Formats: sequence, C-alpha cells, structure tokens
Amino acid sequence: MKQTNVRQFFAQFPTDEACLAHLFNVRFGQGHTCPKCERAAKWYRIKAELAFSCQWCGHHIHPMVGSIFEKSRTPLQLWFYAIFLFTTSRHGVSGKELQRQLGVTYKTAWRMAAMIREHMAAVDGESPLGGEGQVVEIDEAYVGGETPNGYGGRNKTIVLGMVERGGDALVKVVPNMKGETVKKIVKENIVPGAEVHADMHVSFDQIGREGYDLRRINKKALDAYVGPNGETVNSVENFWRHLKCSIKGTHISVSPKHLERYAKEFEYRFNRRMRPETMLDELLSRFPELGA
Ligand SMILES: [Zn+2]
Repeated sequence: MKQTNVRQFFAQFPTDEACLAHLFNVRFGQGHTCPKCERAAKWYRIKAELAFSCQWCGHHIHPMVGSIFEKSRTPLQLWFYAIFLFTTSRHGVSGKELQRQLGVTYKTAWRMAAMIREHMAAVDGESPLGGEGQVVEIDEAYVGGETPNGYGGRNKTIVLGMVERGGDALVKVVPNMKGETVKKIVKENIVPGAEVHADMHVSFDQIGREGYDLRRINKKALDAYVGPNGETVNSVENFWRHLKCSIKGTHISVSPKHLERYAKEFEYRFNRRMRPETMLDELLSRFPELGA
C-alpha cells in the first residue's frame, strides 16, 4: 500500500468530526467491549459532548481522553494534519513550517511539534536490538550546534547510534564517549550474542568482553567502507548523514536539550521505512506515554 497524499488526507479527514470518528475507530472501534456493562456494544455519537455512547448502558467514551489531543484547544483536524506531515516528510518538520502550514502561532506550532516528536519516540519504544545471529552496527555522531561539519564543535551533542542489519535503529544521546559510557549503553540496548560492528574508536574496545562478537573496521585504511570479512558501519553512517542533512536543512539550530527528540523522530521513521503507510494510524491509536 502506498502512503497517503495530501488530497487523500483531506478526502478522508474533511472535518474535525471525521477526525473524532476516526480516532474512536482506531482506538476503540464498533463492537468495543463497554468498560462499564462489559458487553460488546455498538457506539453512537452523542451531540452534547465529544463522545460516543454505549448502546446498552449509555456509558460514554471520549476518544480524545488519554491521547495527546486531550488538553489541547487546537482543532483535531490540524493535529491530524501535523502528524500527517511528520509521517510523510523525509526531512522532518520545523516549527516554522508547521506554523505556515497550519496557520497557528509559532508558539503553538513549536509545542505541537515537540509533542508529536515525543509521541513518536514513545510509540517507537526502546526494544533492544541484536541477539544471536544478528549483526548490529554501532557508531557515534556529533550533531547540531553551531560549527558546520566540525567534530566536537561548540554545542554539539554526541549521539550513539545502533542499527541492526535489515532491522531497527536505536539512538541515544550520551554525555561522553568514555569506554564505560559506551559499554553501559551497549549492554542496555543490544542483546548479547550479536555480532557488533564498530570502527577503531577506542571507546568501543570494551564491548568485545561483554558477550558480543566485536568486529572492527578501520575506515581510514580502506577505500571501500567494508572490511575483508564484511565488517561495516555503512547503515548507521547513512542514518547520520540523513539526520545531519535534515537538521541542517530544516532546523536553524538544535540545542543539545532538544536533539534527542529530533533524533528519535528520525529513528521512528527509519524503523517504519518498509511500511510508511502504517504510521498515521499507529500514531493515532496508541499513546503509551499516557498509559493508553
Ligand atoms: Zn455499556
């Protein structure tokens, strides 16, 4: 299935009312067991509230309760459209862009963007990578800040990236690249038994003693970035290239404080690159950060 385009989006979501009905359908749906009378029920839209009512006992379900839309005064259709933009853009969406597209104030747009990024991170989750028979590439990047392309420039944030071959990415902002720091992150996020590919950076030395099959690639010594036994960090380097290029193109500057959110936004999309058409409904149906 192909990803929805903007015309299809507005055909499906012409009004706030259509959005509310969709939110009910993806979160609960017709036949949803009533939490009060515990019967499988038909649910009827009631007009007095933004709610649906059980055919048997009249219990109300408010589709926005327990979602990121619950406390917002921004119309539901604008929220849906904002999320749509985040799922269809390859390079992310800046606050300015959202302000322009939605016709809301910059403050509102910025807050919506931050909430959507946090939501994407929560839905993506933090399942560890690796395990027996899996290959995981690990690499660090210095992202954001003010020095263009420089390593260790001012206000740069160190991000540690792990990408399972053919699978998911997991990124973590780290305070430094000390061996102990890297080892701790690896143990928390890669299941032992995995073959871990890393460059010659001294910070990765300790990983080999922790139950991982560590393979090194000396990038400086090779023309091609693949070692004699298939060692490579190409996947994770592609991830960095894409992230850095997008941050440079879309966002004027990203402070260390916000960088993790941006990186997680890319992680979310990367992990769904084979099924982009599922992103919108996934983001509308699950709110793990709110216990729903
Ligand atoms: Zn009921």
